[in-house]
Amino acid sequence: MAADPTNLTSMLNLIVLGAVQMLRGSGGAVALWDEEVRRLTLRAVYGLDEATLATLHPRLDEAILGSLGRVGGTVTRLPSAPDASAAMPPEQLLALPLNEDRGTLVGVIYVFREPAAEAFKSGDLELLDLFARQAATTIEQARLAAATLAEKDRLESMQSSFVSIVSHELQTPVAIIKGYAGTLARPDTPWSRETVARVARTIEDECDHLHRLLTDLLDLSRIQAGRVAMSIGPVELPDLAEAVAERSRPQAPAHTIIIDFPSEFPIIQGDREKLRMVLANLIDNAIKYSPEGGSIVIGGRAEADHVVVSIEDQGIGIPPEEREHVFERFHRVDTRLSRATQGVGLGLYICKVIVEAHNGRLWVESPASGRGSTFLVRVPR
Ligand code: ADP
Repeated sequence: MAADPTNLTSMLNLIVLGAVQMLRGSGGAVALWDEEVRRLTLRAVYGLDEATLATLHPRLDEAILGSLGRVGGTVTRLPSAPDASAAMPPEQLLALPLNEDRGTLVGVIYVFREPAAEAFKSGDLELLDLFARQAATTIEQARLAAATLAEKDRLESMQSSFVSIVSHELQTPVAIIKGYAGTLARPDTPWSRETVARVARTIEDECDHLHRLLTDLLDLSRIQAGRVAMSIGPVELPDLAEAVAERSRPQAPAHTIIIDFPSEFPIIQGDREKLRMVLANLIDNAIKYSPEGGSIVIGGRAEADHVVVSIEDQGIGIPPEEREHVFERFHRVDTRLSRATQGVGLGLYICKVIVEAHNGRLWVESPASGRGSTFLVRVPR
């Protein structure tokens, strides 16, 4: 039997037991609708022997669904063994659907009475309805609890993969820096000026990687500690974009970074340093994820109450099913490029938190995989 961390089965068993006793039945059951196989499957049973259960199974859909909510309904008692006589009396059945709030059928509750017992009355149906509601609520709660547990598992596994990713990401540049520095320090080899310059550049690049990773981690820890302290003042986004682009251009010789804002762009109220971080991250990604170069256009448009800044690249794009997920912590789209690119999947999450702290929204549009991405930041004016 599948693990039942939310205890749904025992709760349903109690409900069935209560229903059978209150209705003076001989047995009862709850079957849940299984969307995958598209039929009802028994989940909780009371007072029905193995043989009856075996014959109940095939009948769940046909005979029983037809008698839902009918007082005086009977189902034919099938022979429990192939050679047994088929002439068994029908048994009395009272059954009600278990519906979710929206009316979707999630299961059925049944109470059986011996053929010779007193017939069910309409008052019995009302009583069973109370149990049916209770069962539906229990199922709903179990579903919510299961979703919460699944989310907790997902976060825990993300957390542990985070530790291994981060240690790997830290180790690689440190190993490279150490290796190169050791080589340069060797007294026995006279290095040419070019070699020294090339090695020094590599060391510098690796230090930049380390710096970026540490900044991401620091930002993340501040955000997780709930300290997105904002320092609000006037921000001229076109100037800010230009300043960020200016810093990125030397690292992106294959890209043309274009700033394209309309004149008279509104000055917004925001945290300049944090918005700089957002733009820097988005431009950095635009460069990282367009390995063949191309143009990166940072544009802006003013709306009645908001401004929208877009960062458009001609890179590898983001498949539709990934567009929501790239903003989650540690989520990276699994491509050959991302595997070869430094990063731990924190940048966009941090950007999103900052933009939302401005009461804004950050999202991505990407026409189709392979044709570039456009990230959009919309913040109030
Ligand atoms: P990182 O770049 O460190 O992996 P981010 O949070 O900045 O983390 O981005 C998450 C993921 O989203 C990236 O790993 C990449 O798969 C995808 N992504 C981000 N920006 C772009 C872009 N401009 N084009 C294509 N994919 C992108």
